Amino acid sequence: MIWQERWQRSLMNNYGTPPLLIVRGTGSRVWDDTGKEYLDMIAGIAVNAVGHAHPAVVKAVSDQLSTLGHTSNLVATKEPIELAERLLALLRAPGDARVFFCNSGTEANEAAFKLGRLTNRVHVVVAQGSFHGRTIGALSWTAQPAKQDPFRPLPGEVTVVPFGDADALAAAVRATTAAVVLEPIQGEGGVIVPPVGYLRRAREICDTHGALLMLDEVQTGIGRTGEWFDFQREAITPDVVMLAKGLGGGFPIGACIAYGRAASFFGPGSHGSTFGGNPVACAAALAVLKVIEEGDLVTRAATLHEVLATGLVARGNGLVTSVRGRGLLLAAVLGSDRGPELESAAREHGILVNAVLPNAIRLAPALTITDTDIADLLGRWDLATAQVVR
Ligand code: PMP
Repeated sequence: MIWQERWQRSLMNNYGTPPLLIVRGTGSRVWDDTGKEYLDMIAGIAVNAVGHAHPAVVKAVSDQLSTLGHTSNLVATKEPIELAERLLALLRAPGDARVFFCNSGTEANEAAFKLGRLTNRVHVVVAQGSFHGRTIGALSWTAQPAKQDPFRPLPGEVTVVPFGDADALAAAVRATTAAVVLEPIQGEGGVIVPPVGYLRRAREICDTHGALLMLDEVQTGIGRTGEWFDFQREAITPDVVMLAKGLGGGFPIGACIAYGRAASFFGPGSHGSTFGGNPVACAAALAVLKVIEEGDLVTRAATLHEVLATGLVARGNGLVTSVRGRGLLLAAVLGSDRGPELESAAREHGILVNAVLPNAIRLAPALTITDTDIADLLGRWDLATAQVVR
């Protein structure tokens, strides 16, 4: 039996049958079961921040697993303390900020959802096209009808406003608003960058009404957009930040960081996670942060944006009209809805990308992508786009 049949007979169909069986990876390259090599330009959907099988992460995880793999939160371990301190320093958070660890992006948002409830207000404002996760709380913030409708009723009182429109946000927030929840750049929504100053306006609007500003940095965080956290370019202080994806470099981990009054909303018993703060996951994250810092990969992510943006258009054979995004979170925008076709042509030519919209191809490569990887990518991109326009 070939693997697709086994997949279909054993796994739920919520992803559809995948086109590839990947068996190993190193850096920005992965190989399938037939030995074919691919440049992994989606990197686990913005997860493999330091590439596949980075020696420092492999060592950190192996050392930790052979020392202490798991305890539960009935006792403390050193790794989550060290990681929380490190994240608070990178966030340049005030001394009153605190971290809650979980295992995924949706759980980070779920923790934020519960913090919101502890304001004793239930109204939340989110942006059209947002993505905050698939569990029921986070799904109520994911303003995409196709994903929400089968699961209604969803909790809460949620107002949806156009993304990037600060006036619409100002009109929606009121004295009973618990939180405004925003991605600094909408990832799943199609790599949509809001106008400069949007988050700063959001901060002011929240302050006017005593609402919490919650920023979902699950996809944008950990250096990807050329800042450690994308909101830092607007020099604001949020109330809550949600992290996951790149933080563990491929090891499952999420974090919800709260500042000020929100940092003390959870007391003993209000929330928890058996695996949250697992020492192996925290060791992986500490290794990822160290690799990024020592390689100055945040600066490199910022620098490489222009190289990729220019190359993807120049080698796009007229199919690519522009590139949007920041740092190493990019979308190649097509003049037509041939994204799915280009995604599969790219795969044929040894590139893994994702048609995030019918007319946009998302790239979110590892921050460790090399100049050789980029040269190979652009050569293959030329062939793939030529095949689609032919
Ligand atoms: N928030 C954002 C901004 C995301 O991009 C995602 C995942 N695409 C999530 C939350 C959910 O993360 P997870 O799949 O780890 O639950």
